[in-house]
Amino acid sequence: MTEIYISDPIHPQVLADIQGAATVHLGYGPNKVNYLQISENIDAVILRAENFTKDIIAASPQLKIIARHGVGTNNVDIDAATEQGVWVTTTPGANSNAVAEHVFALLLSGARHVATAVTQVRAGNWSEGKADLIGFELSGRTMGIIGFGAIGRRVAAIAQGFGMTVLACDPIANEEDVAAAGAKLVLFDDLITEADAISIHVPLLPSTRHMIGAQELARMKTSAFIVNTSRGGLVDEAALAESLSKGLIAGAAFDVLEAENIDMKDPLAHTPFPHTTTPGLILTPHIAGQTEEAFLEAGTTAWAETKLVLAG
Ligand code: NAD
Repeated sequence: MTEIYISDPIHPQVLADIQGAATVHLGYGPNKVNYLQISENIDAVILRAENFTKDIIAASPQLKIIARHGVGTNNVDIDAATEQGVWVTTTPGANSNAVAEHVFALLLSGARHVATAVTQVRAGNWSEGKADLIGFELSGRTMGIIGFGAIGRRVAAIAQGFGMTVLACDPIANEEDVAAAGAKLVLFDDLITEADAISIHVPLLPSTRHMIGAQELARMKTSAFIVNTSRGGLVDEAALAESLSKGLIAGAAFDVLEAENIDMKDPLAHTPFPHTTTPGLILTPHIAGQTEEAFLEAGTTAWAETKLVLAG
């Protein structure tokens, strides 16, 4: 029987499907196995966070596919897999809508002071401080989307539903295509000066690292609100903190930071956690892509790819 290793939890419905078709070894939970002890017989791996290095791949002579549950293959030695004839697949787009909707959860949270209001009410203040929580509306404002790929396009569609004018910049996008999606293709320099809300949807590359720094922040409207659900490192966080402290922009909301996965309770690690004290910055802990629907879609796709490869 086919033997499959699943590194981290996947959607229970997909797990049940796989268990009905193969012998499954789990890399998590109470029945957690040590992969290297079973690697000789493994035909397929469904991989989320674990690192699949050259040595681990070499210890898997039967392996035909590493199906990444998610996008990005930083945790797989692609060269070693290719050399050994092992397929490596990903699940692009599975969480695009989830991330796009989270952009608006963050943007509205900032626009309507939701995070502050919830904290105040929890502290027992219903009326006190309420007069300061005057928000702004999205309708009639301009959304600037940096990176018009899968997620950027979903953000554009949702923004139009809110009555926003949408600007986009992307070096590979063409004017007609962007116009057909209801947005206007502009240069990055124009986008950052004209947009009220700026949402970033580009990969982190040497060319995009700190694409928003002190100079760019200084050129934004004082009413500008920046959302980053892409990758930490796209925005220069020190420059952002300074800009927010000086009131040069209205606010920011990030799902990603340069330094993530820090133990917030470890007094020897960053204290306080990076940017929890930055005024006007709302943070969520890299959850933009985490929805029930996205989880099911990623698991279903990874399993479909696995079946295709195993069927030859
Ligand atoms: P995508 O590949 O579909 O689109 C990225 C777009 O960015 C491309 O069209 C590309 O041409 C454009 N781009 C590259 N450099 C640019 C630049 N300098 N200026 C403007 N545009 C540029 O990617 P996607 O699926 O839309 O994902 C976007 C980002 O979201 C990725 O960084 C991904 O890692 C991140 N992401 C985050 C989460 C989360 O949980 N927070 C989940 C999924 C994806």
